[in-house]
Amino acid sequence: MASEEHKLRVAVLGCTGSIGTQTLDVCRQHADRLDVVALSAHSRTAELVQTARDYGVACVAVTDERHASDPVLQELPAGTELLRGHEALAEIVQRADVDCVLNAVVGAAGLEASYATLKAGKRLALANKESLVVGGELLMPMATHDQMLPVDSEHSAIFQCLVGERANRVHAIWLTCSGGPFFGRSAAELESVTVADALRHPNWAMGPKITVDSATLMNKGLERIEAMHLFGVGIDQIPVLIQRESTIHSMVEFVDGSVIAQLGASDMRIPIQYALSYPERWDTPCDRVDFRALGSLTMTAPDPVAFRCLALAERAGREGGTVPCVLNAANEIAVGAFLAGSCSFTDIARVVEATLDAHDRSEVESLEQLKQIDAWARSCAQDQLSRLVLHA
Ligand code: NAD
Ligand code: MG
Repeated sequence: MASEEHKLRVAVLGCTGSIGTQTLDVCRQHADRLDVVALSAHSRTAELVQTARDYGVACVAVTDERHASDPVLQELPAGTELLRGHEALAEIVQRADVDCVLNAVVGAAGLEASYATLKAGKRLALANKESLVVGGELLMPMATHDQMLPVDSEHSAIFQCLVGERANRVHAIWLTCSGGPFFGRSAAELESVTVADALRHPNWAMGPKITVDSATLMNKGLERIEAMHLFGVGIDQIPVLIQRESTIHSMVEFVDGSVIAQLGASDMRIPIQYALSYPERWDTPCDRVDFRALGSLTMTAPDPVAFRCLALAERAGREGGTVPCVLNAANEIAVGAFLAGSCSFTDIARVVEATLDAHDRSEVESLEQLKQIDAWARSCAQDQLSRLVLHA
């Protein structure tokens, strides 16, 4: 058993979400190696207080100001420091008792914490893919070798396939995709799908935003951009492969024609754990796959006509600069509206496309500039939504 001083001291940002709670489970299973020292949650303060008790953390942050004075926070264990507001995330990552930050915040709201983590020289276990989609051009030059470990299952798979390999010998990265709940449907059939239909993902239980992104395939579009930054390849080198069972988590094809894939259970605790254990491997946090029981693996190409968000993300990835920031912000607004019942499923792509059309690309310069463009894109997407509603 590792001694107290050799434990990796982890801050879990977004600890109440799907990735956050699975991270806590990994930390519980490997309590001899991992020590949870700080937590953040946006609004679910009762869960935050319970987790702070369970893990005995030194510090918690409530990022949503409207919940920063919830009475339940008085029940935090004595001595637990309480931080409030969005800036608290950057404060947490700079704490002297934090070695590694697992960023499981959803949306562009996670970008500043990723930035601050890299700046502070800490390990960044990154689930928040929006950080790289929006700010990849800022973050990648800041990261030293192996400082940023992807948690997204596909990117963890690609990272694992590349261990010991040379990046310039990669021919293609086959990014796998379950196809989501609407696999095989036509554009016309997608017009009338409901929120409940979209939230019924065949293989993964995730937060609502990424579940809708997985239904529109925007998630795969965002992941292609994430992979471009992480692995330094162009978008044309990242074909999307529908792999219905989510058993192959992605594959790397080398120039010599050899293909290396990473397979395993559809359980996010595996990539979460790898981002914390790297370069070591620890005992599995979940059930293993019995390949004899699998039968077959099905693979096919995606349909970019029905799943228009995939094509829009490709456009943003190709144009680069501030365009992916606009894509992401417009998508966050449109997905929020769809979940709230104020637009249709196919309106998501309409809003994103109209917002992209209204944007003049520039080069990425700073966090401040990205924040301004993000705010502009959100307001433009709101305008597009109002127009759609007027014409409905
Ligand atoms: P979730 O909605 O379940 O949880 C989100 C967490 O972020 C919660 O703890 C919430 O309190 C916090 N949060 C919400 N809004 C915030 C804000 N404005 N500021 C600060 N914190 C905020 O989401 P999730 O499914 O756990 O996904 C988290 C991230 O991980 C996303 O970027 C997602 O794309 C990525 N990811 C998730 C999965 C998965 O299986 N869930 C897989 C791969 C990647
Ligand atoms: Mg993924």
